[in-house]
Amino acid sequence: MLTVIMPVFEEADQISGNVTRVHSILADADIDHQFLLVDDGSMDNTWDEICKTTQALDNVAALRLSRNFGKESAICAALQRCTGDAALIIDSDLQHPPELIPEMVRLWREEGYQVVEGVKQDRGREGVMSKLFAGLFYRIFRRLTGIDIGVASDFKLLDKTVVDAWRTMPEIDTFFRGMSAWLGFRHVQVPFTVAPRAAGRSKWSFRKLLRLAANSITAYTATPLYIVAILGAILMIGALVLFVQTLINKLLGIASGGFTTVIILQLLIGSCVMLSLGIIGVYLSKIYEETKRRPRFVVCDVRKPGLMEQG
Ligand code: UDP
Ligand code: MG
Repeated sequence: MLTVIMPVFEEADQISGNVTRVHSILADADIDHQFLLVDDGSMDNTWDEICKTTQALDNVAALRLSRNFGKESAICAALQRCTGDAALIIDSDLQHPPELIPEMVRLWREEGYQVVEGVKQDRGREGVMSKLFAGLFYRIFRRLTGIDIGVASDFKLLDKTVVDAWRTMPEIDTFFRGMSAWLGFRHVQVPFTVAPRAAGRSKWSFRKLLRLAANSITAYTATPLYIVAILGAILMIGALVLFVQTLINKLLGIASGGFTTVIILQLLIGSCVMLSLGIIGVYLSKIYEETKRRPRFVVCDVRKPGLMEQG
């Protein structure tokens, strides 16, 4: 049994059609499945559309989050409750091609892979900004973590053992791609081409992406903290050299004069200190957020709870 997980945010115009499409592909391929849709606090009538779909198809269950918690939380909510022998996560706008699912299921069922991950072969039509930003972010991420998630996507099939392992990760701040890479297990990649959006527009604002970038780096690695320490060491060496040089100059009677040197040093050291404090502050705020132990999401409505695990 396969649980198809779809995070849905303001996709009223296409959600029911998309579910039907995936349903017929899976039915044709003879794959026993059910759907778990998560409405991530949409403000339009997405939830009504989802409810209609749950009535039309008896293998569709749905969760509604009390507000927009973000895609990561929506995926979390579904993984926490899915009951299938495997979970398949796919974008509800079907930019991840559902035609690939039967092949992914085959790799899982017949070849025993526990994680089948869709990797972007061609990123599809993306804005210049998002291309540039994603490229930069993935480069930084790879540098910091040693993991190439540049081509990774959330289009994944996870075996039940992987889902169970995922459930033992208690952090509030989740980054699905990073965390599933961290988990390991036997995995295989399936390349796909990102389809253009059928309707609506991408809901990622620049601010949301920026926050995701900062969150996923700090949630995943402490490297920036080490960079701060290294920066401090480099500055100290520079300071020592300058100290000796200044002292010698003073003794020789050719002390460097004027405010210029002082101002330059002040600016350089000041900005380094502020930057470092900022980085430490971000981690501190992470600790603060995590120690509050708030839930990752709040569910305000459920359709067909019988198809879900009680979380
Ligand atoms: N999504 C979500 N919550 C959000 C933003 C997006 O659940 O706050 C869902 C959205 O409905 C879609 C998927 O996440 O199923 C990918 O979102 P989108 O298509 O906007 O992003 P892109 O494809 O541009 O990465
Ligand atoms: Mg999309």
